[in-house]
Amino acid sequence: MDTIKRIDPRRPFSITAEGLKRITLGFVGVAGDVQAGAVVGHREQTKPRRTTATAQRSLLVAAHSDRGSLDDHARQTLAAAALLADSTTQVVLLVLGELKDDAAALGADKVIEMAAFDRRAFAPDAALNALAACVAAYSPAHVFLPDNATGDGALGRRYAAQAKASVATHVVEIDAVHVAVYTQARKAFAVRSLPDVILLAPNAVDARLPFIGAGERVASEQFLVEDHQKTSPYKDLGIEEIDAAQVALEEADFIVSAGNGVTDVPAFERLASTVGAAIGASRVAVDDGKFPRDKQIGATGKTVDASIYIAFGISGAVQHLQGIKDCRHVIAVNLDASAPIAKRANLTIIGDAQETITALTDAAAAARNARANPGSLTPSGGQASATAKLEGALA
Ligand SMILES: Cc1cc2nc3c(=O)[nH]c(=O)nc-3n(C[C@H](O)[C@H](O)[C@H](O)COP(=O)(O)OP(=O)(O)OC[C@H]3O[C@@H](n4cnc5c(N)ncnc54)[C@H](O)[C@@H]3O)c2cc1C
Repeated sequence: MDTIKRIDPRRPFSITAEGLKRITLGFVGVAGDVQAGAVVGHREQTKPRRTTATAQRSLLVAAHSDRGSLDDHARQTLAAAALLADSTTQVVLLVLGELKDDAAALGADKVIEMAAFDRRAFAPDAALNALAACVAAYSPAHVFLPDNATGDGALGRRYAAQAKASVATHVVEIDAVHVAVYTQARKAFAVRSLPDVILLAPNAVDARLPFIGAGERVASEQFLVEDHQKTSPYKDLGIEEIDAAQVALEEADFIVSAGNGVTDVPAFERLASTVGAAIGASRVAVDDGKFPRDKQIGATGKTVDASIYIAFGISGAVQHLQGIKDCRHVIAVNLDASAPIAKRANLTIIGDAQETITALTDAAAAARNARANPGSLTPSGGQASATAKLEGALA
């Protein structure tokens, strides 16, 4: 069995700082040099600026941010532009939403942050106008967007249609001269030269760059077309809040999860409903009959990608960790500081699950009360100290 290489023969090459690469177990095949001389290891070190030459040409990357951050897919798209840019090309990043990330480290030379846009706000015409205004200002050779279903994919297609621009969607392979997409039910590749608008599929690019960009902020007001609400045929009716318990675990952004260390299940469920989180559980908790099978998270349960995952009394067995590998912030509450979950967690509270659940429920309820009527009491003493770290992490 060892002699069989696990490789999909139709898997495309990924663009990295070292050129196009296909990585199989125990073998690295280099398909060609995209950008000579940019090879540096990926260990943390002071990275050089990609270029300091005067820009004569631009590549534009546009993406929505999510709570101040670009997700992996957007970072890969930005990295693609940075890897393809030559020394006289600048990479301009348009962020629809707030950006707290270090844009230079992600490869951007210029950053236009439009904080008024947000994934939660539906303003397709305004986003399209903003993108068109940036294109008009920089005349980029190519426009890059992540081909996702959360706004950027649609924005790229709408822009291409409006500007009558050439477009390639779901691009799985890219270098300085070509893009490739799957065709014939993934049996073949279609290859063409770089079009005006490039919508990148996830994981076509290694986002680890051996250089940084200039990261210069550009005032965004000049690109905003005023009062789109008046002219747009679309109306944003806002987001309808639903009970967190009704959200499928795979879609939940905030999950509290119980393991064998949780004995007071009603208190745990009260916490979930107070903080508006979906409920998950370890296999042991499910096997014990404390939760239904569809709440199980892990290798033989659900895979989740919540922004916040709080694991109460869960040891962090490898099968459980498999289900939470894509979660952004993991917080563990465990009596045992050496439990494997502590290695995965961004924050570990060494303490009793039941006490922390009660303290956190009280703190959340008090915070809600205080918001409703200013002047009411907040938790004090030990309770406050037990919840302070959690509140900070949740802020
Ligand atoms: C083929 C296979 C597939 C599997 N699939 C899954 C899966 O999909 N999902 C899954 O979760 N597991 C799965 N498992 C099981 C997995 O290996 C573990 O047994 C399981 O995840 C352990 O659950 P647990 O952490 O809740 O319980 P335990 O291992 O018993 O750990 C309980 C933890 O709670 C802590 N604790 C105890 N009391 C308290 C307290 N009062 N306050 C705070 N902390 C406390 C303990 O220190 C301990 O770390 C699978 C196993 C196999 C073999």
